[in-house]
Amino acid sequence: MPAQQLELPWPTKAAAPPAVIRPARRVFVNRDLKLARCEWIGFDMDYTLAIYHQEAMDRLSIDATVKKLVQRGYPEWLLSLDYPLDFPIRGLLIDKSHGNVLKMNRFKLVRKGYHGLRELDRAELRALYYDRKIQHKTQRFHWIDTLYGLSEVCTYAAIVDAYSARKQRLSYDTLFADIRVCIDEAHRDGTVAHAVTNDLPRFITRDADLATSLHKLRSAGKKLFVLTNSRWAYTKTLLAYLLDGQLPDYPSFQHYFDALIVAAKKPAFFQEKNPLMEQGEHGSLRPAMPPLERGRVYEGGNLAELQAALGVPGQEVLYVGDHIYGDILRSKKDSTWRTAMIIQELEAEIGAHEGCRGELDAMLELYDRRDELEDALRHHQARTKELVKQHGPDAGGHAGQDLARLKRVIASVRRELRETESAAADLRRDVDVRFHRYWGPLLKEGGELSLFGAQVDEYACVYTSRVSNLLRYSPHQYFRSPHNRMHHEL
Ligand SMILES: [Mg+2]
Repeated sequence: MPAQQLELPWPTKAAAPPAVIRPARRVFVNRDLKLARCEWIGFDMDYTLAIYHQEAMDRLSIDATVKKLVQRGYPEWLLSLDYPLDFPIRGLLIDKSHGNVLKMNRFKLVRKGYHGLRELDRAELRALYYDRKIQHKTQRFHWIDTLYGLSEVCTYAAIVDAYSARKQRLSYDTLFADIRVCIDEAHRDGTVAHAVTNDLPRFITRDADLATSLHKLRSAGKKLFVLTNSRWAYTKTLLAYLLDGQLPDYPSFQHYFDALIVAAKKPAFFQEKNPLMEQGEHGSLRPAMPPLERGRVYEGGNLAELQAALGVPGQEVLYVGDHIYGDILRSKKDSTWRTAMIIQELEAEIGAHEGCRGELDAMLELYDRRDELEDALRHHQARTKELVKQHGPDAGGHAGQDLARLKRVIASVRRELRETESAAADLRRDVDVRFHRYWGPLLKEGGELSLFGAQVDEYACVYTSRVSNLLRYSPHQYFRSPHNRMHHEL
């Protein structure tokens, strides 16, 4: 029997949102979004409704991967190697030809890199990456844009590093391919899912506000759906853990959602025409017949079919997900759905930003001083050229004295310029380390957006650290983007 939705008025006492929302829990807006217009709100599950303990997940994935690598003939000492879980972040690029891990800015310029765990200096980066445009979607590179991918980076860098230290030869390309095969196998054969579902508190954070957040949206008349790539058995276990028994009026997690679509195969879901199937008794499947019914479970499907079943224009669907490509970029390019991206690293990122405000201001002052000094240098150099032209390089008298004075001033400006640039570079390094020991900020790189930051900026209508941050806003909220001004308008 399909589960029935209960009549659930939103209690007036809790209706008023807190006056001030601290930055780490805010929703940030790239493109105006009227929540009042969104009739359907869809959620991805993994890393969106279900927030994982990243360290525990990475440890699990690395253990499973390394065991399988050893079974495939890699040396046993890999089992006792130290895999530094704090090394990777999202938005890194693996260069499989050279065994390097790289971070790019929004112009796809490589600004930081490591060979294994050894930082590459400016000369090494320049020699390898500066004279040609990085084609990051080619065979040579692998772009890490999911939190699942962090364990792959960690495993790869630690093994490259260990082979380097032992001066042993290694095919960097084959190693990465083998890591990918092993981790995929660990997901496919159920090693990862089995470990997670057998010890949910170890792997999943139960957000105390999640149930209330979903209830608040429902009470404002929104319909909610789940669209996940995970299979039903796994989805059911996780959602039950997160939502069952959280609110007295919702007997089970299924009461929160008007449609449940599992094994959706995103990003293909947005581009291909896989049929939407309905699960019957004992896991049998039959073609889904619209309209979608509450309490039933659907599988696969595609954008057009789901869109028709939801029965509203794409602009009235908000999709909330964590994967910049599979959830956000593809839905943005192939549909008119509005998008909200969950970036769980955002809380630490904002914390670091707040902690570095003084240093960031000091850095701006240093950059202003650098601009002044460069202007002064150009002025004195032009004046020198003029005098030399008029009086010759060995002029005597007043012209000679002026030339000597200009020479001293130029030397002094140059000295201060070098000192200022060096102080700014030191400060930049200090600030970077406060964000992340190896890579600096997630969303920025050297004062620019990082490539990952640029994708968030371009494709996510709004972004926030977790689903329950919506609780702090009205379900009719008009999220307004700050008025974007171009440089000529400042
Ligand atoms: Mg996900």
